[in-house]
Amino acid sequence: MIAGIELGGTKTVVAIGSAEGRVIEEFRFPTTLPEETLGVAIDWLRERGQPASIGVAAFGPIGIVSNRENYGKILETTKAGWAGFSLVGCLASAFPNARIVLDTDVNAAALAEAGIGAGAGLQDIAYITIGTGIGGGILSGGRLVHGALHPEFGHLKVPRMPGDEFPGVCPFHGDCLEGLASGPSIAARWGTPAHELPADHPAWDTQAWYLAHGILALLAIVSPSRVIVGGGVCQAEGLHGKINAKLTGIAAGYFPPVLGGGYVVPPALGQQAGICGALLLALS
Ligand code: ADP
Ligand code: ZN
Repeated sequence: MIAGIELGGTKTVVAIGSAEGRVIEEFRFPTTLPEETLGVAIDWLRERGQPASIGVAAFGPIGIVSNRENYGKILETTKAGWAGFSLVGCLASAFPNARIVLDTDVNAAALAEAGIGAGAGLQDIAYITIGTGIGGGILSGGRLVHGALHPEFGHLKVPRMPGDEFPGVCPFHGDCLEGLASGPSIAARWGTPAHELPADHPAWDTQAWYLAHGILALLAIVSPSRVIVGGGVCQAEGLHGKINAKLTGIAAGYFPPVLGGGYVVPPALGQQAGICGALLLALS
């Protein structure tokens, strides 16, 4: 039995999957306190058998480098009750014979999109989510990038759009990319939540400015052939096209797209990217 768990800030998904990483059966429920949330997932799995392998796609920051002391633990977070919780420890004591493979939610989504989604067959892609926060997962040469901790694309500093004096909403940095372009920043800046803003609202040019500058840094450093941009905010009509146009302008002739259609594309797996990624981790 192959199992996957996607642990999100607001909801958790647990699933059993096929040898190809497809969901056979899944259960979605709200993320509450750590023991309670993991308890629900563990009970659901136990009712179905003993998993041989469990892939876990988790919100961060989290220790994902296997030889480090913080491996498997949720690190400093503003999410009440979760800091220091050992996800891997909890699952290993419930399923002592299972292999447990942990990665970030965005790395798992990148793996899924590269395996069976919008980047199918590609070895070098980035997956970015623009939702309550901003995060990025990177597949480079077919391998997920971990680094010493893991990349934190959302906390990149980006140049200010001329005339923009919005202070930003990141509790740590104020005006990092997440502070200037996440869903909560849109609501704070314009006084209207992102999903209620019309397609011709100036908010979308501001979004395209900041996201294009963040993505330019990504192209300059890791050189993906596709940048898959998902998350709630990217459901806004026409946003991917606006980001591509801005990116082409600020790249000024550098980074010609290596594939047709520009670098920035929407995800193909939508809501399933994280859980499919968790199953692919279990199979990796
Ligand atoms: P989370 O990061 O918690 O998983 P989501 O990825 O679902 O959250 O993103 C939530 C954000 O997406 C909210 O700020 C919401 O206003 C915004 N959003 C949801 N639907 C749309 C839409 N159709 N167009 C633009 N923004 C949207
Ligand atoms: Zn920040």
